[in-house]
Amino acid sequence: MSQFWSEVVRNLDPYVPGEQPQVDGLIKLNTNESPYPPSPRVQAVLQDEQLVERLRLYPDPNSQRLKAAIAKHHGVDAAQVLVGNGSDEVLALAFMAFFQQPNPLLFPDISYSFYPVYCQLFGITAQRVALQDDLSLNLQDFVQPNGGVIFPNPNAPTGRTVPLADIEALLQANTDTVVLVDEAYVDFGAQSAVALVSRHPNLLVCQTLSKSRSLAGLRVGFAIGSPELIEGLDRVKNSFNSYPMDRIAEAAAVAAIEDETYFAECCQKIMATRAHTTTELEKLGFSVLPSSANFVFAKPPVGVEAATLAQTLREHKIIVRYFNKPRISEYLRITIGTDEEMDQLLAVLHKSLG
Ligand code: PMP
Repeated sequence: MSQFWSEVVRNLDPYVPGEQPQVDGLIKLNTNESPYPPSPRVQAVLQDEQLVERLRLYPDPNSQRLKAAIAKHHGVDAAQVLVGNGSDEVLALAFMAFFQQPNPLLFPDISYSFYPVYCQLFGITAQRVALQDDLSLNLQDFVQPNGGVIFPNPNAPTGRTVPLADIEALLQANTDTVVLVDEAYVDFGAQSAVALVSRHPNLLVCQTLSKSRSLAGLRVGFAIGSPELIEGLDRVKNSFNSYPMDRIAEAAAVAAIEDETYFAECCQKIMATRAHTTTELEKLGFSVLPSSANFVFAKPPVGVEAATLAQTLREHKIIVRYFNKPRISEYLRITIGTDEEMDQLLAVLHKSLG
């Protein structure tokens, strides 16, 4: 006999993470990780004997060193920063803190698939707002007097951005609404809304070290907002997980944030490879959406099914992301790897399409 508690759990429609194959020898272009190793300073931290010795002690529940490093990098106060285990956790805290109310949470119909999952989990009313025909996002459609708004900028999986002026207009039209800008991919050529935080106490910006800092395996994300919003997030965090960051993650994340030169070099290389890949894909007949992220969203030439092409690539040990979903099933999302990896991808495509 089914019981109430089991029904609730059975009705959950959980997030399905992108495939993480546990074998070597694949060119992995499916979940937008960096193709470059973390900063050499991270490696030095992981060899630090003192850090190992201190693992017998609990970490700093407030992750003050990491908050200070993030605050310095972004030119804000440490009281405007919250850190968590990946931006997925930071987003969860924000959903719990600000979006659990009778009014709906607005987000694009095509965007990060964790948003509807958190809505279901936390009992939040989800209101999907359709993207334009060219898969761009029109923020005028997101005006919502109260409740909440969340969107990725650049959007995922399209890679398209909205200008800061549009975000500012949205904030002005929604002063009673928390607007969360998910900037997981912002470091690859988009403008960060952190610049608007001091003028808009209802703006929360979320970023991650998983992409541009090459630390997806470590799980570090953070939010920047007004001290009032950060205090709200802290209250939820302290009611939930009072040690958001372990000692190893905190020390490694500080080292990665402080290595500005390495960070800039990796982002530059990825943007240059993205430009080259886009040109070459277009020569092969793909339509490629303009991307400010570390991936491209590309539609194969007429007559070629995206799903079939993804399978062909897989047979050549190259994994890209295919979404079997309305409006985007004609596209492939291809993470930008090293130049060598992209050349191998392009060679396979050339052979299969030529
Ligand atoms: N937001 C978006 C838009 C993403 O694509 C991802 C990565 N899957 C995340 C947030 C979460 O990143 P992480 O938890 O690794 O920080």
